[in-house]
Amino acid sequence: MNKIDFRSDTVSWPTPEMREAMATAAVGDDVYGDDPTVNELEALAAEMTGKEAALFVSSGTQGNLISMMVHAGRGHEAIIGEDAHVFKYEAGGMAVLGSVVPKPVPTDDMGRMDIAAVRGAIRPDDPHFPQSRLICAENSSGGNYGAAIPLDYLADLRDVADEFGLRFHLDGARVFNATTALGIDVSEMMAYVDSASICLSKGLCAPVGSVIVGDEEFIYHGRRLRKMLGGGMRQAGMIAAAGIIALRDMSQRLQVDHDNAQRMAQGLAEIPYVSIDPHKVQTNMVFFTVSDEAPLSTAEITERLRDEYNILIGGYRMNGFRAVIHYWITAKEVDQLLNALRELLSEK
Ligand SMILES: *Cc1c(COP(=O)(O)O)cnc(C)c1O
Repeated sequence: MNKIDFRSDTVSWPTPEMREAMATAAVGDDVYGDDPTVNELEALAAEMTGKEAALFVSSGTQGNLISMMVHAGRGHEAIIGEDAHVFKYEAGGMAVLGSVVPKPVPTDDMGRMDIAAVRGAIRPDDPHFPQSRLICAENSSGGNYGAAIPLDYLADLRDVADEFGLRFHLDGARVFNATTALGIDVSEMMAYVDSASICLSKGLCAPVGSVIVGDEEFIYHGRRLRKMLGGGMRQAGMIAAAGIIALRDMSQRLQVDHDNAQRMAQGLAEIPYVSIDPHKVQTNMVFFTVSDEAPLSTAEITERLRDEYNILIGGYRMNGFRAVIHYWITAKEVDQLLNALRELLSEK
């Protein structure tokens, strides 16, 4: 029996339609530029985002790394939220492989850096300092309730970038969750940034891959870096075929996931010992905590959900949980989790 898996949207499997498209995809050698399915995916990504060009990459981490390495080089500094994925969860690749110095800036509970702090982080021209070159933002914010950050924040960062001649990269791993929650087209958000990385493999259900988007020159340099980093794939149309369905179709259905997340939040708010603010649930992530007075600890709850209810859920910080909704989690599975928690937390 398959587990009911709330740990992340990365656990989502490809849909039957994706498997069919993958099995029948036209392919070629993509390092030679010969794979028609990869080319179609890249054209679609560029068109949907309103950018000049796109590049299919093996993961979101690789997409962010390539983007940072195009924009910044040895001894350049990137201003970045201190809980941003690129800073915390990418093994320090920007510094290790890109020689880019991270300049982490505190973030609020939506994952936003304070604009004055961003300005303050920009270095004067002085040989003591690395050279400021890049600003990175993340939307939606995976570490902060999956918050969908409104455009005015990106506009403010764009202004700072323009004023100081910096580049601006968006980690848009879940950008369609953000734009769905904000009720805008993805191209409206992309207009503020020089480049973005978009995961096909999370809530969009593709088995592998991300795309990065930007202008022709950005993608030209990105293509060489992708090869250098070992991401030049050959008959990659096999997986790009699923990516086309992810971008074209799966990006349009995320409101269903957000509604199910809201259903979970409302349900959790009724369960004793659980603390949650349903207003913070804007996309597909539900963060909640269980108080110390509860009959079970966070670790015990996680274990018993797994062993007795076949439910997997992620922990977050001290006594917190993160549940992530995706295509394969429907209202039925949400209710199963709510019922299980209700049972466990009413034990004496
Ligand atoms: C998942 C994720 C990434 C990295 O994607 P991988 O495909 O797992 O390498 C980057 N940024 C954010 C915000 C993510 O959630």
